Amino acid sequence: MPELRNPPGTFDVLPSQSSEWQEVLTAFASTVSRAGYGLILTPTFEDVAVFSRIGDTTDVVRKEMYDFVDKGGRHVALRPEVTASVARAFIQHRPATPWKAWYAASNFRFERPQAGRFREFHQVGIEAFGSPDPDLDVEVIALGWEYFASLGIDSVDLLVNSLGDQACRPAYREKLVEHLSARREELCDEHRDRIEANPLRVLDCKREPCRAVSAAAPRQVDNLCADCEAHLHRVEAGLKALSVPFRIDPHLVRGLDYYTRTTFEYAGLSLDSSQNALGGGGRYDGLVAAMGGPDTPAVGFAIGVERTLLALQAGSGSGADAERLDAFVVDFAGGDAARDISARLRAGGFRVDRAFDSRSAKSQFKSADRSGARFALVVGPDEFAAGTVGVKDLSGGVQEPILLADLDSELRRRLDRRTP
Ligand code: AMP
Repeated sequence: MPELRNPPGTFDVLPSQSSEWQEVLTAFASTVSRAGYGLILTPTFEDVAVFSRIGDTTDVVRKEMYDFVDKGGRHVALRPEVTASVARAFIQHRPATPWKAWYAASNFRFERPQAGRFREFHQVGIEAFGSPDPDLDVEVIALGWEYFASLGIDSVDLLVNSLGDQACRPAYREKLVEHLSARREELCDEHRDRIEANPLRVLDCKREPCRAVSAAAPRQVDNLCADCEAHLHRVEAGLKALSVPFRIDPHLVRGLDYYTRTTFEYAGLSLDSSQNALGGGGRYDGLVAAMGGPDTPAVGFAIGVERTLLALQAGSGSGADAERLDAFVVDFAGGDAARDISARLRAGGFRVDRAFDSRSAKSQFKSADRSGARFALVVGPDEFAAGTVGVKDLSGGVQEPILLADLDSELRRRLDRRTP
């Protein structure tokens, strides 16, 4: 029988590798919940219309969606992004606004797998519905910035742009189509035929021929109506007031069609330039109405967890230490102590593991070393008879006896002394 393996573009995260995952998810929850965002969970699959409404011209919808007809005859799709699902939930449940939600979820896109690009990948993100206030854009952008800072990832370039709105984008779009059409032959194969369908995407193309044409293209920031210009200025002023460094990038367009006004991206400077987008977002005032809901402005972002982990590993920001075991119980006096001590310490908030199967002291010490625990708690027949526990620092040091009755406080004292 051929060996069963995970599908291409997916991966396993084993317990020995998952402490950083826990760290990035916990840090996110802590950052955004302090600003009033509440966790939302939505289904992994939805009616395909939930996603096709976000724009038929995007690659995500046109080419990359995992969609299929289920056994009940429904055309469904695994979610390629979370925003559309959150908007669907908003429209369905009609919560009072402003409504702030955060998520941590996996997405599915049939892309060519490569470093930092998977077919199932994970995002954390926030969405705020119900306010057109540019200060909400500032809050959202700053929260993403604060999140990276909380992880110790400081090599992040924040790019901001404005895509205008229904008042000024159509005229700009026409100008852009005119410019691109005049130089159609110079564009890359993919974009030569898609000028009319989605001219903004050409600006985002990383291929040399398109870049040369884009460099000379008219810029939306130079063609904003008065309201969009005022909005952008307020966002810039807010970010400056909060000391969030950014730069305006007139070529920044997001992959999805529903963005209006503010758009932004966090680029990881330590990542390979083709995969350096850690995350991004913007204002999507048109989405809820386009999906059949009431006219509702909204703003949010999505951050790629795998990319964030790459940035964390590339820099000095790894804090996996927080997940280390405090102690490993080595009991070669029958096993009662291992059972009772590990239960008692866990109840007291310590992180504790132990050996099973009545193994030899030597084999248990080997497991203790491999576990990465800070201390071994040793109970042999002598300690057991005397009501003591031997405490041994596993990074080196002698074993010292302490009274079983004092174990919790003694362990706490030693851990505090050793931290981190
Ligand atoms: P998007 O929803 O396309 O704007 O993507 C937001 C973020 O999700 C990107 O900046 C990446 O960090 C991450 N991302 C998007 N697609 C993938 C993928 N196929 N594999 C890994 N991360 C991805």
